[in-house]
Amino acid sequence: MIIRVERLAYIEDGEIRIVDNAQIEIDERGHLTGVGRATSLKYSKRFRVVIPQFVNAHIHVLDLDLREYFRKMYIDDVVGVPYGVKYLYLREVEPGKVMKSARYALDIMYRTGTGEAWIVVEYGPKFIRCLSEIFDSYPIHVVPFLEPSIHHLGPWEETSEELIREVYEIASSGYNVELISPLNYSIDELKKIEDIVHSRNLEIMTHVSETSDTYLDGDLALALNILKADVLVHCTHVEDVQVLRGKCVVVTPRSNLMLVGKINTRLFENGIKIRVGTDNVGLVDPDMWSEARILARLGIDVQAIWRALFLDLYEMDVARLQIVCGAGFRWKERKFLREVLWRGRTLGRIDGSRVCMFH
Ligand SMILES: [Zn+2]
Repeated sequence: MIIRVERLAYIEDGEIRIVDNAQIEIDERGHLTGVGRATSLKYSKRFRVVIPQFVNAHIHVLDLDLREYFRKMYIDDVVGVPYGVKYLYLREVEPGKVMKSARYALDIMYRTGTGEAWIVVEYGPKFIRCLSEIFDSYPIHVVPFLEPSIHHLGPWEETSEELIREVYEIASSGYNVELISPLNYSIDELKKIEDIVHSRNLEIMTHVSETSDTYLDGDLALALNILKADVLVHCTHVEDVQVLRGKCVVVTPRSNLMLVGKINTRLFENGIKIRVGTDNVGLVDPDMWSEARILARLGIDVQAIWRALFLDLYEMDVARLQIVCGAGFRWKERKFLREVLWRGRTLGRIDGSRVCMFH
């Protein structure tokens, strides 16, 4: 399939490229085989503006039914372990009862141009089977991070063999692991989890320094030096951002603003690999356009926002592009990148060799 585009913008090795009168070639298996200036005359489709799909690098999909609580209660009383409402609810609920929430989240991600989603699954082993069916029914590349079901309240010295066994099972099944916070585990547990997960070439994600309390309690040092987490979510209160070099840091702009009142914009300025997520579906819809607009409003460098939001050509398993409404866009390259963030809207998507239009 060859698609002709008036303007194609994409990211290759971290560099943003804009090609006018471009063509995109996709083979039968759905892989991108060529991106560049138009040469052919025969096209399967024509569009005006095409850009990559988004990566939503942090989303919890099971809590839509708790939106009342997110609105009314203090953050720790909702999402804190082990007694936050979310954990009490998910511990008891039948997996089938929360699949509606997951379907809602995937559906919004699909319609708003997300191509890859790093999804946290609380009580991972309990929900993953049901969830996998939903994940498979959308052309979105889902990367699940499973949370074990055991968390301790506050500082802890002992090692729970049950926890280690559970992490072992999660990793042996090929899943990445997420811990709500390194503060909820003993040093020995963090070391064992690090070893189990990394020896299988899988990744560890954890929430870090979202509130000043957790920052002062030293969660960052535990995440970096003991757990050796690969993906650090929030880092809202991290001051010396240089220590985050070499890690992937995820910010969730709307959730950070709503729950802790600030976004750590310095993360975008220091050569740190940064990604953007939407956090709890009970709090905000997983629409990456809304996150893009907030980052643009904060005055963050447009190119840095692009690199944080979109799939790189080399990260795509199959062609993952979106057709964007470009009516009224200013065409000068630098302005164009900003226009996409300010006023972009997903009109359709290219998933492999499948094209779907929404309007
Ligand atoms: Zn989170």
